[in-house]
Amino acid sequence: MGNSPGKQRSIVERPVTDSVNSMPTGPRNYHVSMPSPYPSGQTLLIDADDTLWENNIYFERAIAAYIGYLDHQTHTPEQVREALNQAERETILSHGYGLTSFTQSLITCFERLTAGPVSEHQHAQIRSFAQSIAEQEIELLPGVAELLPQLAERHRLILMTKGSQAEQADKLARSGLAPSFSAVEIVAEKNPATYAEVVARHQCAPKTTWMIGNSPKSDINPALAAGLHAVFIFHKDTWVLEHAEISTAPDGQQLIEVDSFRGLAAIF
Ligand SMILES: [Mg+2]
Repeated sequence: MGNSPGKQRSIVERPVTDSVNSMPTGPRNYHVSMPSPYPSGQTLLIDADDTLWENNIYFERAIAAYIGYLDHQTHTPEQVREALNQAERETILSHGYGLTSFTQSLITCFERLTAGPVSEHQHAQIRSFAQSIAEQEIELLPGVAELLPQLAERHRLILMTKGSQAEQADKLARSGLAPSFSAVEIVAEKNPATYAEVVARHQCAPKTTWMIGNSPKSDINPALAAGLHAVFIFHKDTWVLEHAEISTAPDGQQLIEVDSFRGLAAIF
């Protein structure tokens, strides 16, 4: 390793100012109270779902309602869930991410497990589970509303999310966070080639470019493979299809783990 710190995985503690009670007045100014190791002018590619706002919990609730509705006589809820996961893997390959794809997965899984045609009434009920997700208010994760505009003062922020263009753009608009981003990338899939394209399009220097997100599979590993630094923000409800072993950062690249969005204050 020599003098290269590249393989070190460092854990950044929550800033001391995290406690609301200790700061009774005014907004908390993270980047003054906590000296940041990286100078201004970094490019931060930031994931959206389960990094900036809650997302997967709504899917989990919809899936629980769906499993209850299916009420399968021989399959356990866990077996139904595994069948749905498999249907989702297949649908994503053909239809990509988003609610239309999710609805298709629910119907495919239902057809397979009931071994018969799905009635119009059942179709409508299944669609309503997916529709309940679309109707959710945007719930920002702790610290995002305060910290994101502060990060935008010092760094270039690019939203980097995958999924349906219309759905992701709509969520961003409703979040109120759009002014902090200098660009928005809604991509079909996050793989090393996608990251390389985005980096080239925005003329990002890899040495000062970071991917920040909650998914080892989509945010961290492909960004590291594309030569970027990465910050993994743990979210306890990350979608099972996003789970993966986190790669080790190659020499010269940084991989930092934090336990919430607020942890970024100590880095940037
Ligand atoms: Mg995410």
